[in-house]
Amino acid sequence: MSFDLARVRADFPILAREVNGQPLAYLDSAASAQKPLAVINAESHFSQHGYAAVHRGIHTLSAAATTDMENVRAQAARFLNAASPEEIVFVKGTTEGINLVANSWGGSQLRQGDNIIITEMEHHANIVPWQMVAARTGATIRVLPLTAEGELDSARLASLIDDRTRLFAVTHVSNVLGTVNPVKALVAQAKAAGVVTLVDGAQAVMHQRVDVQDIGCDFYAFSGHKIYGPTGIGILYGRQALLSTLPPWEGGGSMIETVRLPEGTTYAKTPWSLEAGTPNTVGIIGLGAALAYVESLGLANIQARERSLMRYALDKLASVPDLQIYGPPARAGVIAFNLGKHHAYDVGSFLDQYGIAIRTGHHCAMPLMNYYGVPAMCRASFAMYNSEEEADRLAAGLTRIHRLLGG
Ligand code: PMP
Repeated sequence: MSFDLARVRADFPILAREVNGQPLAYLDSAASAQKPLAVINAESHFSQHGYAAVHRGIHTLSAAATTDMENVRAQAARFLNAASPEEIVFVKGTTEGINLVANSWGGSQLRQGDNIIITEMEHHANIVPWQMVAARTGATIRVLPLTAEGELDSARLASLIDDRTRLFAVTHVSNVLGTVNPVKALVAQAKAAGVVTLVDGAQAVMHQRVDVQDIGCDFYAFSGHKIYGPTGIGILYGRQALLSTLPPWEGGGSMIETVRLPEGTTYAKTPWSLEAGTPNTVGIIGLGAALAYVESLGLANIQARERSLMRYALDKLASVPDLQIYGPPARAGVIAFNLGKHHAYDVGSFLDQYGIAIRTGHHCAMPLMNYYGVPAMCRASFAMYNSEEEADRLAAGLTRIHRLLGG
């Protein structure tokens, strides 16, 4: 099946707007992807016709909203090829998913002298929660380093694992370098040593098919807003045998079975015991619409389309003088760069004047900035709705900035 770019673009009304008198070139989807009408309409339709608090209601709207929400849980399970909907926890996003595992699993399992392995290319969301739980429990953090090519030095994993290693957390795709990590092989290696594994899928699920059973990980987290869905909603997958052992991490309504005073409260079973409070139902409905939209286009088609666009963009950018591109040649979604000696903020501000939206800064990956010895980078991220013409405009804009400011 081919990819009809014009049709896909027409599904995203915001792409038709102008910024600073220029057509918008939205190259910041790795931060938040835009939402198609299918998502916007689903959120609006639910808000107009189906909105009610879930779980507690006997009335028609509440019961229907509960069914809608549970349908999205089942849909997310199919999307990730989880074995059961009960392996799917609704969270606010990747950050909350990782914090849930760090607090619930880590808080109950980690002991003084244990260690956790993360990598040098992680987003802060896959660093800080582990540092916090390590400080609380007396565990230590070990770091799998990068190679000069911007890939994980996988061969070093074996030497980091010892009999006190309890968890290995790794990003599927780097949000800065676009590196697609060999998560299946890394997870297999960790599992063989009895280590629990978590994969941060925030930058992966929109670019390629993800099969959690094939990867073999214990946990996999992603955010709705990176996959053309709403903010404030995400998914944590947990392998049933492990997820079902997790103690609650937040207390409140919806996660209990019975509450007694002064004590003696019992909890619902997972995943509901991990979802305290009234859920983001509008977000859940929007996420369901986003997953359906992506499935309707086909992840294999999306991946093929994006691969060719990335090749095109990298090729175009090769002609820009003094452009330093970071990361390996084969990458998903993002191209991080610096132009000459200019600070990323200056470059980003100029591009904004040309209607081109990119991200600048440390990209919540300060250890990676340190590795490259720079305070900041520019990052252009390409989604399935971006065009070759937008890549041309990026390259032309950068060449113009270079002409104006020098190298
Ligand atoms: N991990 C990675 C690799 C990311 O790119 C992001 C978002 N930039 C996150 C985690 C955190 O996602 P969220 O802010 O949606 O929780």
